[in-house]
Parts: sequence; structure tokens; C-alpha cells
Amino acid sequence: MNQRPAVPKDAAAVVLLNHAGDRVLWAQRNPQLAFLGGYHAFPGGKLEASDQLVKIKNCTDEELGNFIACAVREAFEEVGVLLVRGGEKLTRGQRASLHDDLISNRMTFAEILEHWNLWINAADFLYTGFWTTPKFSPARFKTRFFLAVCPPKQEPYAAISEMQNVEFIRPDDALNEWKNSKVLIAPPVLLSLKTLAENLTADKRGFTRIKYDSKTKDQMLKTVAKNLLEDSQAVGGEIRYMELNPRIICFPLKTETLPPATHTNCFIVGRKKFILIDAASKDESEQNALHALVDSFIEKDFACRAIITTHPHRDHFGGETILQTHLQSKFGLEIPIAAHRLTAESLTGKVEFQKFIAGGAAFDLQDENGADFQLQTIHTPGHARGLLAFYDAEFGFLLSGDNVVGSDSVVIAPPEGNMKDYLNSLETMKNLPNLRFLCGSHGAAVSGAKGKIESYIAHRLEREAKILEAFEDGAKTPREIVKKVYTDISPALYELAEKSVAAHLEKLYEEGRISHEQTRKFTKEN
Ligand SMILES: [Zn+2]
Repeated sequence: MNQRPAVPKDAAAVVLLNHAGDRVLWAQRNPQLAFLGGYHAFPGGKLEASDQLVKIKNCTDEELGNFIACAVREAFEEVGVLLVRGGEKLTRGQRASLHDDLISNRMTFAEILEHWNLWINAADFLYTGFWTTPKFSPARFKTRFFLAVCPPKQEPYAAISEMQNVEFIRPDDALNEWKNSKVLIAPPVLLSLKTLAENLTADKRGFTRIKYDSKTKDQMLKTVAKNLLEDSQAVGGEIRYMELNPRIICFPLKTETLPPATHTNCFIVGRKKFILIDAASKDESEQNALHALVDSFIEKDFACRAIITTHPHRDHFGGETILQTHLQSKFGLEIPIAAHRLTAESLTGKVEFQKFIAGGAAFDLQDENGADFQLQTIHTPGHARGLLAFYDAEFGFLLSGDNVVGSDSVVIAPPEGNMKDYLNSLETMKNLPNLRFLCGSHGAAVSGAKGKIESYIAHRLEREAKILEAFEDGAKTPREIVKKVYTDISPALYELAEKSVAAHLEKLYEEGRISHEQTRKFTKEN
């Protein structure tokens, strides 16, 4: 069941500096949003047909002009700043009322600018490239980025519920938030912050005393734009992996997984001392991409401690042995493949393990600067008997395996799967001290990890109550229960849902809530 990657939608975003030019605007996307919910991002969004109608002066490239219009409209919609000329005469109240006209669709952005005699000056925006959301994401955008400076006397604010915690922040402070695992950011934001931090802090005098049109600031902006455009990812290059924080890299690899997912996240944790988790892909070009990064680590004398398989499902193993052989033939390294004993047992004859990991074990790893940190192993049976999750307690970052994934729900299929164990494992993870973020084996990382796990528990218990109800109402087969309870899934997934139903019934029986006779009768009839 190979799914095609989504077609990227055109979009634009603005990297907005404050008027002084020493801070950049970022905001946290509402955690409820399907795309990068909870991430810190720059204002931006999808191109609309009406963006073509916006009048722009000093524009030499019409197509780029449409994207500037899009970025300006999005900045106004999301954070209330009007990046136009002629806007000085508007009071804050007037801007708010224009914002309301736009949001409630009383007027298009083009009509608003026309009516108030405002205009966009293309020369106020420096193009810094375009980034395309990688193929593994269910929603994809091709986003053009522009660097601009906020006009004086405008204070950005959370103008719509999609954005919160809107602030101008020094780029190096923003970068520190990320380095200390306080925020999640996507690759274009990370590169922009790094580039801004380098250029803004180069001159200790700062740019605070420099006027909007001063040559120095102009020069600084041009340098930033030029440096950003030097990154291959900003000019059409593929984003292969994300740094979730300075310790954890997420490297999604194409696997034979369950739709809608198309990839399994491989994690590289640590640098000078690192481990790999689920180097699973059997696809050669995927392996080559991963090997290239691992090779670059080995060439820097970083030490690989183990290649770990989280559990025995087909989308979580297959590439580990090839990576092991590759590192042995290219560098003469003997890297152990490791898993929980129960996983190794299930994979007998398929993968050879040199090391077993029990829950509670910890890996001593090092970051790029050689600073030590620990990664705890947590045995979380339920989805699979030997499933391992990993926790960086200091950074509050959980790698939740298939227990909790970025999107969609998790299949619990007996006998490998056990619903009671699964719910216990969710409880264990939910109660981890200092827990802030998680990233599962499929999909993006999420902030608000505890809430995410709680919603998984609530969802399961809700399903279970309905299954019990359908069962007591006399539903005779798992298929009948699925049809009554799983009204929100496609028939293609019925078979999997039946397994989850069986897992719930098993749990209900274990808890004495239904009798053995009932379950026996139930299973016999099928
Ligand atoms: Zn799995």
C-alpha cells in the first residue's frame, strides 16, 4: 500500500525583524493545528487567488510579487502588523478594524489596501529562498521566505487563535531556547535563526541605533539573505532530516508502514557518543541517505554505541543489519544491534542481536561539545511485547516509539499486542518527570506531550466503552462491533480495527467486566 507524497501547496512566510533590527518575530503555532502544531514559527501561510490582485510597487518579478502579497497578508492576519507603505497614518484602532474586515471576509486584502491608499513596496522584502516540506509529511508546502523590517509603532500580537506567544526575540536567545529543548522549530526557522544570530551578534554595537533606511542595516539584511540562499535546502534541495534539539535528529525513512504514514522515524541520539534507533528502511536510496550522515559522524570520530530496534513490526527492522555491515566494511567497526529480549525472540532468524536492553537501562551519550547526557530506556509493552521507548529526562523529550505517534491512532493487535499493557505503558509515559515533548515512530514531534498521551488514553477508554456497549447490545462478530463503533474509519482499515476490538475484549475479560463464556461464544462464532 504505497502512498504518493502530497503535492506541496504554494505558501509564503516573513522573517520579520523589529524596527531596530536586533530581534526577530516568532510565535507558537496552536498545538491543536494538524501541521506543526505547537511549533514556533514565523508568520505565513497558503497563497490565495486574491493575492494576485494586490498592487505592488517596485516589483520586478510578478510571481515573486504574489508571494510577497501573500506574506504581507498572512502577517496582518496572524500577528496584526501591516507591512505596507502609507500605513503610518492609521491608528491602532483603525488597523484592528481593518483586520476584522479581512478576517470576516468583508473585504479582500487587495480591497483594503486600495480603499485606504496603502501599498506594498517590493523593495522592502528580501527573498531568502523557498523550502519544501519533505515527502513524509501528510501536508506539504512550498514556502517562499522574505526578510523584512517592521514599520515603527506597530506591535505584533496574537491576532488569530492559530498563533500564540507572539514575540520579538533576539535570535541568539531564540536559538538558546531551542538548544535547551524549550521549543520545537522546523528546519527553515532553525537556519534563519542561526544565520540571523551570526550576523546580528557580529557587531556588538548592535543595530538598535540605526534607522530603518540606514546603509548598515540594509547591508546586514542583504548578508543574511545571501547566506540563507547559500543553503541548498533553501533553493529546492530536499530536507532529509530534522534536528529536534541539539541531541536528537529525526531522520524519517521510507518503509512499508501502515497508511496514512509512509515513513518510519529513525532517531540518532547524541553526537560524540550516539546511538541509532530504528534504522529500518529496506530501500537502498533511503539507506544511502542515512549512511551518508552516519559516515560523516564516524569521520568526525563520533562513536556509535548501538543500533537499536524498538519492536519487531516490519516497518521497524530491515535496515539495521545493512547499516551494521556497512560500518564494519567501511570503517572496521563492530556496532552491536540491540533490542529488548522479547523483540529479539520475535525476530529470531530475521535479525541477529548482539545485545539485549531491559527497561530501566540508560545509555551514556555525548552531545556535539562532548557534554554527557543520559538516555533512559523504558519498556512499554502493549503495542508489541518488547517495545522500547526512550527518554531524555533533562530535556523532557520522549521518543515514544509506536505507543504514541504524531498523527493517527495506534494498532493493538493480539497476541503481540495487549490493551491492558498498552494503557499501563501510556500511564508510565504520561507520568515521566519533566515531560514536555515527544516524537513517535511516525509523524512530527509534538509539544505538550503529557496532554497528547492523555488524549490517547481518553480515546482508548471511550472506544472501549462503546465496544462494551455494542457487545452487550448483542453485536455478534468483531466486524459488527467495528461497524458500530469505528464509524470514523475507512473500510480498508476494518481488519486492523477488528484486532483492536479483540484486544479490548481481552482486556475487559481480564478485568472481569465480561465473562469468559461471553468471549468464548463470541470468538467461536467467528
Ligand atoms: Zn509497530
